[in-house]
Amino acid sequence: MRTAVYPGSFDPVTNGHIDIIRRASSMVDRLVIGVLNNSAKSPLFSAEERVNMLEEVTKDIPGVEVTYFTGLLVDFAQSSNARIIVRGLRAVSDFEYELQWAQANRLLNPALDTLFLITDQNYSYLSSSTVRELAKYHADISKFVPPYVEQKVLEKY
Ligand code: ADP
Repeated sequence: MRTAVYPGSFDPVTNGHIDIIRRASSMVDRLVIGVLNNSAKSPLFSAEERVNMLEEVTKDIPGVEVTYFTGLLVDFAQSSNARIIVRGLRAVSDFEYELQWAQANRLLNPALDTLFLITDQNYSYLSSSTVRELAKYHADISKFVPPYVEQKVLEKY
C-alpha cells in the first residue's frame, strides 16, 4: 500500500490545495493530509476547524484521510507509514524554502522522499493568505475556495 502525506497550514484550504490533493491521491493508495498545528502562528481557523473543512471538501475523493499534527514532519510521515511527502510548487519563491526542507528531511530520514507537483496555472497566484486578506476587506472569494469554505470564512469576518 503506497501512502503519502500532504502537510500544510490549510488556513483555509483553497482550490489550489484541492487540485494538488486530487492529483496526488490518484498516484497513491492513501493520502494523509496533515494540518500543521503550529502554536507559534496565530491561525484564523483552529486545527479542528481546518481539519473539518478539509474533510468536508475532500469527502468525494477516494483514499484521502485528514488529521492534524505537531512537531516534525518526518515523524508525522513515519507515524502515518508514508514514504512520500507531497508539496505543491507555485513560483520560484516557493522553491528555496522547499529545497531546504526536502534536503533536511532527507537527512533526517533517507527513506522519505518529497514529491513536488507544479501548480495548475489557474491557481499559481493562489494562497491561503490571499484568501484571508481578500475576505478581510469583503472581496468575493468564491473563485478561490469551495462554497463550504467560503461560508466558514464569511462567518469569521
Ligand atoms: P499557503 O498558506 O501558502 O497556501 P500551505 O502551508 O497551506 O500554504 O500549503 C501547503 C502546501 O500546498 C504547500 O506545498 C504549498 O506550496 C501548496 N500550495 C498552496 N497553495 C497552492 C496552489 N495554489 N497551487 C499549488 N500548490 C499550493
